[in-house]
Amino acid sequence: MKIRDILRESRKPFPSLEIVPPLKGITHKELIESIRPFMEFSPKYINVTCHRDEYEYRREPDGSFSRHLVRNRVSEVAVCGAIMSAWNIDVVPHIICGGSTAEEIENRLCDLRFMGIDNVMALRGDSVAGEKRFVPSEGGYRYASELVGAIRNFENGEDLFSIGVGGYPEKHFEAPNMETDIENLKKKADAGADYIITQMFFDNRVYYDYVDRCRAAGISIPIIPGLKPLTTARQVSLLPESFSIDIPVGLTSEIRAAGDDRQKIYRIGTDWCTAQCKDLIAHGVPAVHFYTMGKSENIVRILKECF
Ligand code: FAD
Repeated sequence: MKIRDILRESRKPFPSLEIVPPLKGITHKELIESIRPFMEFSPKYINVTCHRDEYEYRREPDGSFSRHLVRNRVSEVAVCGAIMSAWNIDVVPHIICGGSTAEEIENRLCDLRFMGIDNVMALRGDSVAGEKRFVPSEGGYRYASELVGAIRNFENGEDLFSIGVGGYPEKHFEAPNMETDIENLKKKADAGADYIITQMFFDNRVYYDYVDRCRAAGISIPIIPGLKPLTTARQVSLLPESFSIDIPVGLTSEIRAAGDDRQKIYRIGTDWCTAQCKDLIAHGVPAVHFYTMGKSENIVRILKECF
């Protein structure tokens, strides 16, 4: 079923889950067992992130360098297949512009159609090590809006996929200002995106303000808030650095007061996210998206409290 239709038909907010493909070496059974705890909540679909292939150069005995493909994770398509064979549930593989030509992306879409997948999340992807800025592949797409347009035109414009895109309540780090970033978000909606999932945030006011600004700019598609429970003290500096987001002082001071007590920090992060989720539901959001990062215990606790 298309996420667009799930969103239209749903009477109340529901949990939306995102997993990261496991590192190579994890068995099919281990993957399924890591997802099983979520099934108690009858998720309507599972998003599966996509990771760009990277290359490394190795010095050969003759002094020359050879280029080698480094792929640390199982592919998102393989993970989607595993989920679909274990449960009757929709999957949303992510597709990124980075590292692929338009033709390679078209071939990937053909595979997804073949598997009976109705949904994709269209993203640009980040720059790879050594690049200051994102560099599109030759013959590839520069922005997610171009990718959305290409997916819409796939197979002569048949309506084959429901398309999600990313949004940044605290601004995408490359955008010069929020207005421009929202204008660019609108290009994705105008190109045919059905809904937006936001980057994680830890202060709900940031999300409510963002939704207001998007609506004022003429973006009318659903905007699903993205949450991630903080789990370690290190994330207080890591998350802002990696995702260009703020962690509110209320949360950082609670974490600081917990000192080295890891369990307490984990609990603080889970409780904070639970409170955020309850407040979002009370505000009538369409769904709440969880960045599970392959961990289920904290998310299961939050889902039990909120849904
Ligand atoms: P875009 O929408 O293309 O925007 C990128 C930048 O370009 C922004 O600053 C925007 O303002 C600007 N811009 C856009 N269009 C134009 C234009 N026409 N002219 C000028 N400027 C423009 N990354 C992965 O590698 N794999 C994943 O699976 C993945 N999943 C994600 C899921 C979610 C919900 C989110 C929010 C992010 C995810 N990401 C993932 C990260 C994402 O790839 C990065 O944040 C990336 O830097 C931006 O992607 P985007 O699709 O938002 O890009």
